[in-house]
Amino acid sequence: MKKLIVGNFKMNTTVKEFAVYLDKFLPKVKDSKSDVVLCLPYTHLMLASQKLVSTEVNFGSQNISIDTSGAHTGEVSANMVKDLGATYTIIGHSEIRKRFKETNEQVNQKIINALGVNLKVILCIGETKTEKNANKTAAVLKKQIDIALKGLYENELKNIIIAYEPCWAIGTGNVASSKDIENAVKTIRKVIEEDFSEKAAEKMLVLYGGSTKLENFNSILKVKGVNGLLVGGACLDADVFAKMV
Ligand code: PEP
Repeated sequence: MKKLIVGNFKMNTTVKEFAVYLDKFLPKVKDSKSDVVLCLPYTHLMLASQKLVSTEVNFGSQNISIDTSGAHTGEVSANMVKDLGATYTIIGHSEIRKRFKETNEQVNQKIINALGVNLKVILCIGETKTEKNANKTAAVLKKQIDIALKGLYENELKNIIIAYEPCWAIGTGNVASSKDIENAVKTIRKVIEEDFSEKAAEKMLVLYGGSTKLENFNSILKVKGVNGLLVGGACLDADVFAKMV
């Protein structure tokens, strides 16, 4: 089965710089064996729709609004993202959960909005260092999944990808151990089995994210149950990210 490699640009690059990036990146991943998604700032989506239309590279946003339209200054709806040809959106990234105090219930509403316009969702979950040290990882992941996927039908799970991203590993250089990742992925599938079915748990795509780089990505991809990666910092270098892809 193909691995899914997702790049999260976060708030980096101008549109001009992104155009240069694509000129470098696209030829290198033309015959890649992985599925690739670039999650971009909203400002980059129009250029992505023009440049990626005839390629195998998919793209998406890093968030969407909890609302679908109306007087919400500064917000961008799922429909607006979809309208630009995007096929994915990240939802529940820990940087957004933390800065905007985004709740699991808001994550759930955003997922419903995304699925409503046929966007695939990369749902980010993960524990903080304090929660890890208190042996609460499994409980935190369960709560995040239970609430985020509340009310969804099993057949909608084909459009959900879960990214296990321990908060303490994101952008810190501290990558989770293979054992930690394997345990978290097991927990994720167990929760999906409890909430939906064994078949749903088997089919669910689960990614790892948190300080992945050239030196560690291969061993992470070999961890049992890991279907791919969500890459932040390392995706900004077209050569490095192309190698990972
Ligand atoms: C991320 O932004 O989802 C992420 C995993 O970042 P980094 O790879 O930089 O830790």
